[in-house]
Amino acid sequence: MATIFTALQDVHARIHAACTAAARNSGDVSLLAVSKTFPSCDIRELYEYGQRAFGENYAQELASKYQDLKDCTDLEWHFIGPIQSNKTRLIAESAAWVHTIDRFKIAERLSEQRPSHLAPLNICLQVNVSGESSKSGVAPSHLLELAQQVGHLPRLQIRGLMCIPEATENQALLAEQFATLVQLKEQLTAQGFTLDTLSMGMSNDLELAIASGSTLVRVGSAIFGARTYPLGSI
Ligand SMILES: *Cc1c(COP(=O)(O)O)cnc(C)c1O
Repeated sequence: MATIFTALQDVHARIHAACTAAARNSGDVSLLAVSKTFPSCDIRELYEYGQRAFGENYAQELASKYQDLKDCTDLEWHFIGPIQSNKTRLIAESAAWVHTIDRFKIAERLSEQRPSHLAPLNICLQVNVSGESSKSGVAPSHLLELAQQVGHLPRLQIRGLMCIPEATENQALLAEQFATLVQLKEQLTAQGFTLDTLSMGMSNDLELAIASGSTLVRVGSAIFGARTYPLGSI
């Protein structure tokens, strides 16, 4: 049976191979270990192997793991789930990054609630690159306006863009949606934004995401194993 340690090594090897294939440096792609639904002891184990960045989708779960692992001082929490406005304080107080900003109202609350002793919250704007109506993310046509609004908030720093492409096996379609995010980042850069992050790629598509230009892959099941959601819990 694969241990968390060998699974982590396998994911590092996949990232390295994908970077080599794309003539990119492995150091240009960072690994976010998506730990949602997995216990704090698994996170601590990965921390002991050197993993520092962890992604969570639920504010309450983030807050409780943040408390459990407070002694891991350089552990970096990334919030990657949909955000309800009544949960922004938990996120503002415990996360270093939020990848899922698609509305100004939520960004404004996070900025207001970010404690002054902490560095500004790093932000990725989530873009709906597939155009599916069920998907979160700002429409590409409204991205510039959102970036300009969020850019004025004092306690946030926009670092880049994030997407969750369509759930499809169609590689050409996926590549097209990743390319859309790359183009949008270039357009914002041309408008004067300084962005260093493209948050795209998960367990099943990290190779294609890296070939497309990803700088951060969000990997859950390939490290922790399959997720099971207790009935009615989430
Ligand atoms: C759960 C989740 C992931 C990780 O997905 P895996 O397929 O388990 O790697 C990545 N990004 C987001 C936004 C998620 O919600």
